[in-house]
Amino acid sequence: MKIGFIGAGIMGRPMALNLINAGHEIYTWGRRFDTVEPLLVAGATGKGTPAEVAASAEICFTMVANTTDVEQVVLGERGLVHGANPGSIIVDMSTSAPSATRRIAQELAKRRVHMLDAPVSGGQVGASQGTLSIMVGGEADIFERVKPLFEILGKNIVHVGDHGAGQVVKACNQVVISLTMEGVAEAILLARKNGVDPAKMREALMGGYANSKILEVHGLKMLEENYKAGFKVKLHHKDMGIVMDNAHENKAPLPGAELVSRQITSLMEAGEGELDSSAIMKALERLSSQ
Ligand code: NAP
Repeated sequence: MKIGFIGAGIMGRPMALNLINAGHEIYTWGRRFDTVEPLLVAGATGKGTPAEVAASAEICFTMVANTTDVEQVVLGERGLVHGANPGSIIVDMSTSAPSATRRIAQELAKRRVHMLDAPVSGGQVGASQGTLSIMVGGEADIFERVKPLFEILGKNIVHVGDHGAGQVVKACNQVVISLTMEGVAEAILLARKNGVDPAKMREALMGGYANSKILEVHGLKMLEENYKAGFKVKLHHKDMGIVMDNAHENKAPLPGAELVSRQITSLMEAGEGELDSSAIMKALERLSSQ
């Protein structure tokens, strides 16, 4: 199938490569050559604008950073919408605001272009191994058309509702992830303060109900002080902004998420936006040394 793919970053690059390896024809565009080069080397065709990508493809994926980027790449001056053929599908897999997603879907519908919001969980490892969890919002028949491609990218693929529902579920995912990450960091601090080896603490917890992917993967990063991203603090900060804006719009009190948001904001203020989000441990260490 002819597929457009825009956003070959930490997540998008391995995802696009998985589609190429599955035998699909990929058309791409990037604002920097370095970003798209690995896809071109793997056989993708480069185009001059997002609109040209859309004109060549039946289904276009976007995996860019934030809501503004999605709006730019899809609806911008040279955006996908200007080349997309009627009946084609744009699938945004970035994490972006549910309200913006609904607006974009409405704009595209005016041109008879379909949209799905399909954010993911599972990180760089899930993207490389094709084991992402994919939460999809949009029309059921459009979901069915894209499903075979989702099955190349992920393992747990759930159609969760209409436009925007995928992004709402991703926000729910970020609430659980961020509170768990804060919990793991606090457990490490508490063990250390008591003179107990935090590595042994983690090992013990991994056999019980406190176990989680976050304890395994991010817990280890915290212990090793290895904050190479992974999932960047600046993206986590962006996601918590989406969570808190949506919570306020819907009058949903989220005291835990609000607290963790403040911790993540303090990392941004310390100029640590490029680190892995497990650097939330550093924010806690700073609090502890005050
Ligand atoms: P990333 O490494 O920063 O990659 C983003 C890519 O999008 C970059 O290649 C960037 O191009 C491109 N891009 C951004 N804005 C653009 C624009 N306006 N026009 C053209 N290209 C643009 O980010 P990532 O970690 O892959 O994350 C991508 C999305 O997945 C984000 O929404 C993130 O929240 C979500 N996500 C990430 C993870 C994770 O573990 N990393 C997990 C789940 C979900 P340049 O190279 O030119 O900057």
